[in-house]
Amino acid sequence: MEQTFIMIKPDGVQRGLVGEIIGRFEKKGFSLKGLKLLTVDQAFAEKHYADLSAKPFFNGLVEYIISGPVVAMVWEGKNVVTTGRKIIGATNPAESAPGTIRGDFAIDIGRNVIHGSDAVESAKKEIALWFPEGVANWSSSLHPWIYE
Ligand code: UDP
Ligand code: MG
Repeated sequence: MEQTFIMIKPDGVQRGLVGEIIGRFEKKGFSLKGLKLLTVDQAFAEKHYADLSAKPFFNGLVEYIISGPVVAMVWEGKNVVTTGRKIIGATNPAESAPGTIRGDFAIDIGRNVIHGSDAVESAKKEIALWFPEGVANWSSSLHPWIYE
């Protein structure tokens, strides 16, 4: 089953959005496979966002991500990478539809509350980076009520 890496950024933690965000993924029917609150250092944040290192906003982005604790999660389910991105909404909250996490809870692109992997391959890389200890191995007894 497909997995994605979801991270509630420091602003989402500070603003008390952890429960709300977890609830949206849970209620959709996805399964929580990994969860931890941690503060990452600069080198780690630079590694996570390595693909964006040439961008003008890179340094500000790294400062933002290391500014406080984040909630790192692995969610599992059918098409969870693509659907997770839809639940999150467009990168710039000014363009995120209402009903999405960023559309409902964010205003500025540099304070957009949440990260989600953009492809199955990057999800695998990000899960390996953030959860080197591995994730939980369980399956929900609700599976037949969620999948046909
Ligand atoms: N970002 C920013 N300014 C920009 C573009 C992106 O501050 O012009 C930040 C924003 O927090 C975004 C993150 O960099 O979530 C990673 O950018 P990406 O293009 O990967 O967007 P995402 O995948 O998070 O939607
Ligand atoms: Mg991205």
